[in-house]
Amino acid sequence: MIASGIMRAMVLHAVGRPLDMETRPLPLPGPGEIRVQVEACAVCRTDLHVVDGDLPPGPMPIVPGHEIVGIVEAIGIGATAHAVGERVGIPWLGGTCGTCPYCRSQQENLCDDPVFTGYTRDGGFATHAVAGADFAFAMGEVDPVNAAPLMCAGLIGWRSLKMAGDGEKIGLYGFGAAAHLIAQVCRWQGRKVYAFTRPGDMSAQEMARGLGAVWAGGSEEMPPEKLDAAIIFAPVGSLVPAALKAVRKGGIVVCGGIHMSDIPAFPYRILWEERKLVSVANLTRQDAVEFLAIAPMAGVRAATTVYPLSEANRALDDLRAGRLQGAAVLVP
Ligand SMILES: [Zn+2]
Ligand SMILES: [Zn+2]
Repeated sequence: MIASGIMRAMVLHAVGRPLDMETRPLPLPGPGEIRVQVEACAVCRTDLHVVDGDLPPGPMPIVPGHEIVGIVEAIGIGATAHAVGERVGIPWLGGTCGTCPYCRSQQENLCDDPVFTGYTRDGGFATHAVAGADFAFAMGEVDPVNAAPLMCAGLIGWRSLKMAGDGEKIGLYGFGAAAHLIAQVCRWQGRKVYAFTRPGDMSAQEMARGLGAVWAGGSEEMPPEKLDAAIIFAPVGSLVPAALKAVRKGGIVVCGGIHMSDIPAFPYRILWEERKLVSVANLTRQDAVEFLAIAPMAGVRAATTVYPLSEANRALDDLRAGRLQGAAVLVP
């Protein structure tokens, strides 16, 4: 028997509109699905892109949120991966087709027919959420608020870092939720972090130094030495030529975001000498398994600002305005 009841959710009805608090009947998990009671859901810049219409519009209404930590409270037929009472994390990748060429070649992040939590299926800006059991990850004894930002900022950051190669000197452009987590991983790996913030954002630069960055400055500045690789987390296209100028011959520039403003024209010579410019799209479940094992070993701690679920719009506003340090986390 699955108890009936109601849930609350912050719902997007149309792009550009604030989210509305609504009550709904508790959804039943379908075959292969679990329902979790949400403990915490972090706010990702992608949520902002969904709300602001920077991405192609998905189905509406939709409940945003794809950095969910919660407790399994109901299980659908065949959802054997998790047990009732278990704490799980639910990321952006909510499902894949399993049969397309990408799914069959360990590139499920590029699946032709994917499901995205909080974009094409309801997410975690809510008291409850339903997810595919095979796309949820056991979290164990963690602080839900600290763990929620790992589920996207951490996972996408980890995938971006892998794409950046194994160089020692890593530049991070945009020192927000993802960068502040990945800086801790870089330090644990023995790498040097160079943090680039909005020009004049002294508090972000101070935070970066506090997390072990060997240098922090404005994004228009050149680092004191050439970088082996740079990861751009800020959605700002003009950072692409800036980062290309900052990396050495053969260096790599990784665009870690799902959306970016247009990249201005730049001279070929800053790409030449075998510099590479690549993007990261979504995540694979393998990325999640790897990062969730590494995060405790590296002692990764999220800097968080907690908002009640009902204040999701204020959290989004603060992220949009650059008023946040670290990650915003909604708690029902
Ligand atoms: Zn597929
Ligand atoms: Zn995200």
